[in-house]
Amino acid sequence: MILKFFGVRGSYPVSGKNFIKYGGHTPSILIENSETAIIFDSGTGIIEAGNYINHNKKINEIYIFVSHLHYDHIQGLPFFKPFFNKDSKKIKIFGPNFTEDSFELQIEKFFASPFIPFSLELIKKENNISFHTFNSKKETIKIKENIRVKAEFNKNHPKHGVYMFSINSNKKKITYITDINITESILKSVVEFAKDSDILIFDSFFTEKEKIEEPEIGNFGHSSFEDGINLKKLSNSKKFFFFHFNPNCTDEKLIKLEKTYCGKEIKMAKEGLEAKL
Ligand SMILES: [Zn+2]
Ligand SMILES: [Zn+2]
Repeated sequence: MILKFFGVRGSYPVSGKNFIKYGGHTPSILIENSETAIIFDSGTGIIEAGNYINHNKKINEIYIFVSHLHYDHIQGLPFFKPFFNKDSKKIKIFGPNFTEDSFELQIEKFFASPFIPFSLELIKKENNISFHTFNSKKETIKIKENIRVKAEFNKNHPKHGVYMFSINSNKKKITYITDINITESILKSVVEFAKDSDILIFDSFFTEKEKIEEPEIGNFGHSSFEDGINLKKLSNSKKFFFFHFNPNCTDEKLIKLEKTYCGKEIKMAKEGLEAKL
């Protein structure tokens, strides 16, 4: 598996000279497994992931998993170029509904006129795209004999919760957990979900010091750098990436955080960064 980070920023995209080192796109990571591309979240980072896929002739099937429907996790979808390819790439998109509407209908509403000049209907008509709503709190999706994706619901993100994802392939495991407030009541289930990950990617929106100094920051359903380090240890995960950075964190600030919190096994996610398993 090859893991590629295309968007590591939370809440909204940022750009400019203060955001060059870590990048400004909202969440999207891609895991390449020979001809299969698995994408977790479709923030603006998925636009670059789509360009990468279009230049990589080997990839012939794409699986997109959406953790929840906040804009920073779906806003890149209308600009995902493989949607507009006239080729036979199979695209399957999985996500939650959180209301009575199906996941597909909710995405259809997001693509609605007058906000976007084309409909999802049109894209679906011309391409091999299908939508799948998670219909339980724990699901295992068999992608290939040797590739499984697990999705598990967690309630600790306002207002509707979030799905955590992991991918298992050839005895290697990558876990992706973002937009979650890791409190005592859910710690055990999150540790269990992340258990023995080869790579763990985790929501790191603030530090514990910031949480104390700005208590309202802790109410947005995110976790701290310290929570991440604790989760790595408790889950016995090998390599760890801080992820979903606060858009107010300039490169200067993130460099300081990197010096404080990172080490051999603990790294900062960055746009363009790759990790091989
Ligand atoms: Zn987010
Ligand atoms: Zn969110």
